[in-house]
Amino acid sequence: MSKRSTIGFVGLGRMGGPMAANLVRAGHRVVGYDLVPELRAAAAAAGVEVAGSAALAAAEAELVVTMLPGGRQVLELYGGEGLLAGARPGTLFVDCSTIDVGDARAAHAAAAAAGMRALDAPVSGGVVGAEAATLTFMAGGDQADFAEAEPVLAVMGRKAVHCGGAGAGQAAKICNNMILGVSMIAVSEAFVLGESLGLSHEALFEVASTASGQCWALSVNCPVPGPVPASPANHGYRPGFAAPLMAKDLGLAANAVRAGGIRAELGLRAAELYASFAEGSGADQDFSGIVREIRAQSARNAVAEGEST
Ligand code: NAD
Repeated sequence: MSKRSTIGFVGLGRMGGPMAANLVRAGHRVVGYDLVPELRAAAAAAGVEVAGSAALAAAEAELVVTMLPGGRQVLELYGGEGLLAGARPGTLFVDCSTIDVGDARAAHAAAAAAGMRALDAPVSGGVVGAEAATLTFMAGGDQADFAEAEPVLAVMGRKAVHCGGAGAGQAAKICNNMILGVSMIAVSEAFVLGESLGLSHEALFEVASTASGQCWALSVNCPVPGPVPASPANHGYRPGFAAPLMAKDLGLAANAVRAGGIRAELGLRAAELYASFAEGSGADQDFSGIVREIRAQSARNAVAEGEST
């Protein structure tokens, strides 16, 4: 990939918008498209050339990035008269959306059938990482295609890991987020249990963050206010990593768990808990806000317990 490449970019939303802007800043010619007119206008203001359709955004590109809500949109855009049909033979398609592993493999197959090359390259790091170009990419596909995409990924992120063949990036993403979802629930339950036992947040944090309970959910994104000033708990649980996105990722993990017959009881339960939290009070909260749900339900249990004795 040359220093100034033509890059197609489809999906200029919360993540895609700043990622495309970073590519422009690095000197690339970025031809972009989004369904939403306001997002097209914002991208144009950041120096993106706005195309008349998604297919036109891919037509002249050497590499095409997609950053879309889910697998359905990716497969729809790859199919029919979409991105693959209009692109130059051999174009490298890099899908950075978080999608089902099966959908990612179908996208790879569609690209290969059309004479194109593909990588799945979902990200972690959120909107803040997209803006600051500090994302981590987890990529699946051919090593040579990954090597070609790496300089472009390096403009938008701090780290890119080649995880294996088609779908391996998505697999790494959902496995990581299954750890994260389960550990956030475990940390939250421990804080609520500690509260009921008269243990201060500070004391539990000081012990657990330097002992065997240490994990990212505790040390960086601590779900209770106080111990970690930068964590969303100190800022009204404003995301951060929004609960609906955690619910989405755990739903993808749960699909893969079921499809593979994996015994992952905590992963499946975490998917259920985050789905109901995201549909209710967590709709616009950071995923660490689940501690408040656990606390509220515990208080209701305590009342019910008191009434029955
Ligand atoms: P978003 O909804 O803000 O952006 C997606 C964009 O795709 C929208 O602007 C939408 O208009 C556009 N789009 C949908 N269908 C289209 C089509 N047919 N043609 C052109 N544009 C189309 O979502 P986001 O927060 O930017 O997330 C994008 C992806 O990144 C998702 O898969 C998400 O799971 C993943 N992700 C998000 C975060 C985060 O913190 N927001 C973090 C990691 C991963």
